[in-house]
Amino acid sequence: KKIIIAIDGYSACGKSTTAKIVASKLGYAYIDTGAMYRATTLYFHDHYINITDPKAIHKALENIQITFVFNPKTNRSETYLNGLNVEDEIRKMYISENVSEVSAIKEVRKYMVALQQKMGKKKGLVMDGRDIGTAVFPTAELKIFMQADMNVRAFRRQQELLEKKQVVGIEDIIENIAKRDHLDTTREEGPLKKAEEAYVLDTTHMTVDEQVDFVINLSVG
Ligand code: C5P
Repeated sequence: KKIIIAIDGYSACGKSTTAKIVASKLGYAYIDTGAMYRATTLYFHDHYINITDPKAIHKALENIQITFVFNPKTNRSETYLNGLNVEDEIRKMYISENVSEVSAIKEVRKYMVALQQKMGKKKGLVMDGRDIGTAVFPTAELKIFMQADMNVRAFRRQQELLEKKQVVGIEDIIENIAKRDHLDTTREEGPLKKAEEAYVLDTTHMTVDEQVDFVINLSVG
């Protein structure tokens, strides 16, 4: 039986890395909800949207189209904003630095959650984010909550950025992750929080393969 797997947790704990592989092993769809908030942040940035102006936010949301397109060349699903491939742009530090403010806006969350619920109508889905098990799919059959030590998270994220030729100091990465964790856990709407029935997956001492096995085993259990 096909199910919905909700993967939530702190920033840079390996959610999307794990979710992506689990989805491909199970033949499930994968949706990276962080990419949707990142693309929204990019749009707000490029269009100088004043995030204290509800009218401007509303209008901006109406003009945002986010899609995921599988690229056989890179063997990954890539994020498109209004027809433009923004996969690389949305992973840059200036987006990471602003995304948690944008994603704390109530209207933005309402809009994105509704969109995610629509995208995930068909079962056989892995979705990762911060509020999937609590707000987007509270009835998901399997919920995972990921965490890891800060230093390990920062080091992994630094390596990931380096692979994309972005050199960022470890202190800056730690500062960004800590700030996002704080904003994500303390916001009013859809705060990051472990769903009661979620399984905790601490990846501090785990390889990607082990993380994937952990989720796969629970999905068939
Ligand atoms: O998953 P990722 O780190 O790319 O997400 C970027 C940011 O988007 C998070 O720090 C958080 O502020 C926001 N986000 C969210 N809810 C989600 C997914 C991401 O608020 N479901």
